[in-house]
Amino acid sequence: MNQNIIGINGCAKDCHEAAVKGGWWHDGKGIKKDRNVGELLCLIHSEISEAMEGARKGLMDTHLKHKSMMEVELADAIIRIFDLAESRGFKLGETIYEKLEYNKLRADHQINNRLKKGGKKF
Ligand SMILES: [Mg+2]
Repeated sequence: MNQNIIGINGCAKDCHEAAVKGGWWHDGKGIKKDRNVGELLCLIHSEISEAMEGARKGLMDTHLKHKSMMEVELADAIIRIFDLAESRGFKLGETIYEKLEYNKLRADHQINNRLKKGGKKF
C-alpha cells in the first residue's frame, strides 16, 4: 500500500485519539460514540475561516508564533477533519488517492475544458 495512505490513516487515528483523550468525545458520563455531525462540520469550517483571516491580514499564529496563522489554522482544519473521519470509520488515505485518480479523468478538471467558455475558472 502507498506509504502516504498509511500515513494519512495513521494521522487520522492519532487526531481522533487526541480528541477523545482531550475529552471532546466525553459527555460527562462516558465516551460518546457519535457527536452532532453538523456541529463538527461547522467547527471544520470555522478553522478554514480562521485561515482565511490569517491570510487576509498576513498574521502570524498566536500559539505557534514561528508559523503563519494560515498554516496553523489549516492544520487545525485537518485535525478536525481527521477526528471526524476516524470517528465514522472512514479511511481518508484510500479515499484521497481514489479521488485524486478519479479527478484526473474528469472533463471539468482538464485545462482545455477549463479555458473554454463556461469552464471552471478556479
Ligand atoms: Mg484554530
